Amino acid sequence: MDTRRENLAISGGTPTHNGDWPTWPDIDSDTEGLVLDVLRGARWAISDINNGVQLYERRFAEDFARYNGVPYCVPTSSGTSALTIAFESLGLTRGAEVLVPGLTWVACASAVAACGLVPVLVDIDPGSLCMSVDSLMAAISPRTEAVLAVHYMCNMVDLDRVLEICQQRGLALVEDCAQAHGAVYSGRRVGSFGAIGAFSMQNSKVLTSGEGGACVTSDAAIFERMQQFRADGRCYSGLVSSGSTPDLRECGEVQGRNLCLSEIQAAVLLGRLRCLESQNERREAMASVLDEMLADMDAVETVPGVAGATRRTYYRYCLRFDLAKLDGPVIEQIRREIEAELSLACFTVHDPLNASPLYNPLKSPQKYDPGVLPRLDPTQFDLPGAKAARETYVTLPHRVLLGTRDDMVAIAGAVSKIVRAHRH
Ligand SMILES: *Cc1c(COP(=O)(O)O)cnc(C)c1O
Repeated sequence: MDTRRENLAISGGTPTHNGDWPTWPDIDSDTEGLVLDVLRGARWAISDINNGVQLYERRFAEDFARYNGVPYCVPTSSGTSALTIAFESLGLTRGAEVLVPGLTWVACASAVAACGLVPVLVDIDPGSLCMSVDSLMAAISPRTEAVLAVHYMCNMVDLDRVLEICQQRGLALVEDCAQAHGAVYSGRRVGSFGAIGAFSMQNSKVLTSGEGGACVTSDAAIFERMQQFRADGRCYSGLVSSGSTPDLRECGEVQGRNLCLSEIQAAVLLGRLRCLESQNERREAMASVLDEMLADMDAVETVPGVAGATRRTYYRYCLRFDLAKLDGPVIEQIRREIEAELSLACFTVHDPLNASPLYNPLKSPQKYDPGVLPRLDPTQFDLPGAKAARETYVTLPHRVLLGTRDDMVAIAGAVSKIVRAHRH
């Protein structure tokens, strides 16, 4: 074997990094105090009798709405629940089409399908990793009623153009911000542009309570409906301290179910939200350092931010390899080589949704209207951009961007070492 290859950590060479990376999720003593307060306070869920103390869930909702520059927030049990109440509250026609990017987590499509709607998979641009505006336009049909714009990995959707299209065509816009808490576009937080912004606070996200989610909106009527859809038809009474009445009033205007966040999770989010801005700043600064180090490197590209990006956030740091310049490795091999160099679990992007083992409604036909079932077949969609991205990107978890400048030097060094080992 070529000595350049023998030196790779995967072949027994010395790793570029010892694996001592920042851990995730992380915790601080203020947040620990808030969680203990909940645990000792005899009130672990919002659906019970008021004990004279303001709910943590309300405190988090108020802070998160303010953080996002909108009046309303409804916390939920997960990002999937957030997408669910978002689409339920829009009152779309059963069987209507929702345009969903073909490269994202499966919940984006499965949650839409579970609401009785039809996800139409739209290709992405492998350079930006987000929905291609041309593909979006081409996918609009008379049955289209909404667009789910996903701010993916480390980038944002071209909101100026997507908003314009939605307004012209009368489509509802939902923003999926599960990978973009705190990102700013044209001076405003993402999630505040569409009718609803949906967030996940699952373990891997930059704001997390293990499991959790939230929707934000500026529309009072949508807020009222979302509350009821996630709490069995109940919404906040606004009364505090009676000591004998529930916080949740029975409104019963829609058919809801229980998709509520617990008080323990809300306390975690309330505390961790206070750290989000400084952590986002840190990640953005380290990503810029890495961008600069990789700028002139052969056969590797990073993702340029969309025009209009004021403030980028990073769920993953994304490395795009020009495989034509290398001696034949597939992306899975490069991913494993980077893992070995950095002593760190690394990823690709998601599987395109027309070829994902986790997304195919036809596997559970009993869950869907027989009439719409053929329209739910994901294999009918052509997603060459998503496939190209799946085959050329390696992605690093955001916790590495909370590391030091030396850590960034190690990442750039590992990438350079691997490229040199494979260069023709
Ligand atoms: C994580 C994620 C979700 C789903 O969130 P859960 O909390 O896991 O249900 C939805 N959309 C995107 C883009 C995600 O990354």
